[in-house]
Amino acid sequence: MATLERSVQELGPRQREERGEQLKSQGIVIRTYDLWKTYIMGDQEIHAVSGVDIEIRRGEYVAIMGPSGSGKSTLMNLIGCLDTPTKGLYYLNGKLVSEMEDDELARIRNKEIGFVFQTFNLLARATALHNVELPLIYAGISAKERVERARETLRAVDLDQRMFHKPNELSGGQRQRVAIARALVNQPSILLADEPTGALDTSTGQEIMALFERLYQEGNTIVLVTHEQDIALHAHRIIHIRDGKVERDETIRS
Ligand code: ADP
Ligand code: MG
Repeated sequence: MATLERSVQELGPRQREERGEQLKSQGIVIRTYDLWKTYIMGDQEIHAVSGVDIEIRRGEYVAIMGPSGSGKSTLMNLIGCLDTPTKGLYYLNGKLVSEMEDDELARIRNKEIGFVFQTFNLLARATALHNVELPLIYAGISAKERVERARETLRAVDLDQRMFHKPNELSGGQRQRVAIARALVNQPSILLADEPTGALDTSTGQEIMALFERLYQEGNTIVLVTHEQDIALHAHRIIHIRDGKVERDETIRS
């Protein structure tokens, strides 16, 4: 593996592009090669992500699990194109995003990634419908099509009866379902969820996990970041992270 990684790093620009096309044709949505993120704190170097190689295929449901401080959020920010690595290669849906500048990265992020956060991150003053429409506004979709697609996506998470409610008129579980609809409305390549049940009570959390299972069954690719084993066990594969490294890659069921 290490020899292969090195050889990939040494590929020329054309060959790197070809590698991306190969990965895409093989249905590999996420592929990292020797990915690093190093923070400098005074005279100290912190390797938050240190040499990570992961491969995730279209249609997989994967949990990235590890204790606090193990590098999960840093890795998620790299996978979600919110940050760029210090070193290494990252292919997202065939594109070498580790080499991209901020504006290009933002465009790819909007197109390819749907984010779900622990605290929902909804616009407080906007209705559920408008919250779900937002990514489509950034994507330049017409108003008529936006409303149609947002309604349809809210229906898919069983919230069509709550379209005109604002976040403070919804329960925690309903808010998270709005956030999931917002993440899905652009039909992204991956749904990336960071501790999505962290702010919910146990039974509401179970409801949200049941929704993820259904979305997975419908063909969505899901990457779930969590420190909780019982949440991770809902996924079909667990990538265990420790000290910024992949410690174990475990298939739960296929
Ligand atoms: P997790 O999400 O698993 O709790 P993080 O990715 O947040 O872990 O952090 C991994 C390590 O990197 C920790 O040691 C943390 O202190 C450090 N770290 C994270 N972000 C920064 C930053 N912006 N600057 C310096 N160190 C950071
Ligand atoms: Mg974290």
